[in-house]
Amino acid sequence: MTIARRDLILSAAALAIGAGSAAAFGATRPDRKLGYAIVGLGSYGLDVIIPQFANCTHSRLAAVVSGDPVKARRVAAAHGLPASGIYSYETFDSIRDNPDVDIVYVCLPNALHAAYTIRAAKAGKHVLCEKPMAVSVAECEAMIAACKAANRKLMIGYRCHFEAYNLEAMRLARTGAAGKIRYVRSEHGFVQRDPAKWRLKRALSGGGSLMDMGIYSLQAARYMIGEEPIAVTARESTDRRDPRFTEVEDMLDWTLEFPSGAMAGCQSMYSANQNRILLMGDAGRIELEPATRYDGNQMWVGKDGRERAVLPPGGPGKTQFAGQLDHLATCVSSGREPIVSGEEGLRDMRIVEAIYRSAREGRTIRLDGRA
Ligand code: NAD
Repeated sequence: MTIARRDLILSAAALAIGAGSAAAFGATRPDRKLGYAIVGLGSYGLDVIIPQFANCTHSRLAAVVSGDPVKARRVAAAHGLPASGIYSYETFDSIRDNPDVDIVYVCLPNALHAAYTIRAAKAGKHVLCEKPMAVSVAECEAMIAACKAANRKLMIGYRCHFEAYNLEAMRLARTGAAGKIRYVRSEHGFVQRDPAKWRLKRALSGGGSLMDMGIYSLQAARYMIGEEPIAVTARESTDRRDPRFTEVEDMLDWTLEFPSGAMAGCQSMYSANQNRILLMGDAGRIELEPATRYDGNQMWVGKDGRERAVLPPGGPGKTQFAGQLDHLATCVSSGREPIVSGEEGLRDMRIVEAIYRSAREGRTIRLDGRA
């Protein structure tokens, strides 16, 4: 199957989920919502993901895993979980004996993704792992192998594949609304203020803005163009005297070349707020700003500017978070592969490693195996 055809199918499936339909994924078991264990009660796991089970049709919260027993008990009590649904990082492996838990959702710092994904698979659980999938290609490959060996599903938390505006932009791009797509610009960043944050510690983050916000820029370039890049050229700009950036990069700017001749200019940074995606075709443009936020995203189409605001078809439907949680649950029930599988995370990590290498060596890195 060609990449473009694969992505068309993925987008169509995701559109159905985004609109709140589970029918696209075939037989599910309406009698039982699948149980998730959330690993890591930090800002994303606790404040963003856990409240979203209220919007789910096929998923429910079944357990929490935390290093803070007081917090774990408080969250469990607030959500009606039994004591058997509370784990520490030390007792995590005994989750294998809990039939209430079908899926483990890893919401930990990046460098812990691989270890907890592999432990979850060994405990017989399916895995939803946050982005970036891990901190190296080798870790991604080990995670995929562990899930395959245990015959468990592995999905990456690429929520934008369930976000209504991104899905509509993909649909418009694929149906030629802007003509032949020649260029995508995708920029993501925020001001990272606290030098003590794990995101600025290489041992936990694996890298700087690229590992965090750059993943959105890279993903958008790939899913908007619908092809795999064949070469990358990157440059870095970091003030190493700034105490925030002694270990990881601030800003990366990279250009991806695609087989059709399309190009993508991508950026990530930790020193300014930005969140936008622009698609330029030979017959018009599609623009999203903000593009990949939790909510409040906006979109326009036009010839030269933002001529017409676009709403996604059918309104907002299910939230992107509930869409992603239910997608994996229905994949588990129906035996289908998630549209954003471990292989998709691995593809990104191969490009991430090439971006860093290009910036370090000051040259273009080929991604298609050609010298
Ligand atoms: P956070 O710092 O708010 O939470 C991290 C959690 O991990 C905390 O509960 C912390 O106690 C726990 N933890 C366990 N071991 C730790 C250790 N050795 N060092 C530090 N913390 C440890 O971070 P977050 O913003 O919730 O991010 C968690 C993951 O979620 C990251 O991989 C991040 O990229 C991802 N994330 C994704 C999105 C998205 O939109 N998809 C948004 C935010 C974060």
